[in-house]
Amino acid sequence: MQAIFLLSFLFVSSNLQGSQCSICQMEVRETAKSSFESVRNNSPVRFCSFSCASRFHKKYPNAHLSAHDFEKPETKLDAESAFYLTKSKKLSSQLEFPMEPSVAAFNTKEAAEKKQRELKEGTVIKGFEALEKLHE
Ligand SMILES: [Zn+2]
Repeated sequence: MQAIFLLSFLFVSSNLQGSQCSICQMEVRETAKSSFESVRNNSPVRFCSFSCASRFHKKYPNAHLSAHDFEKPETKLDAESAFYLTKSKKLSSQLEFPMEPSVAAFNTKEAAEKKQRELKEGTVIKGFEALEKLHE
C-alpha cells in the first residue's frame, strides 16, 4: 500500500507542467478534442488521447476519468457515461492529433451518430470500458 502511494506520488510530481500528457509527455493543448483527464492526489493529470488515457486507466482502474467533449472541448464529460465515435480514418484529421486509435467523445448518442453520418464511417459506442474492449 505504501509502495503504491509512493509510486503515484512520483507519477504526479514528475508531471507538474500541467498541459503535458502524463503518459507520453506530448504537449496537450487546453482545447485538444482528443484529450482525457483524471486526478491523482488532488492534482489534475492530462492525457493526449484515448491510447494514453487507457494506459492510465489500466494502471489505476478506480481513478475517475473525464473525456473532453468533441463539440465543446472546454466541457468535460464523465468518461464512463460518454458516447464515443471511433474506427474512422476521417475522424483523425479532425482531431488535430495523429495518435491511433482516433476517438471522439460526445455528450449524447444522437451527437455521436450525427458525426458518424457526416463522416459516413466509424463505430459509436457508450462508455470508456466498452471502448477499451473494442480496441483490445
Ligand atoms: Zn499521450
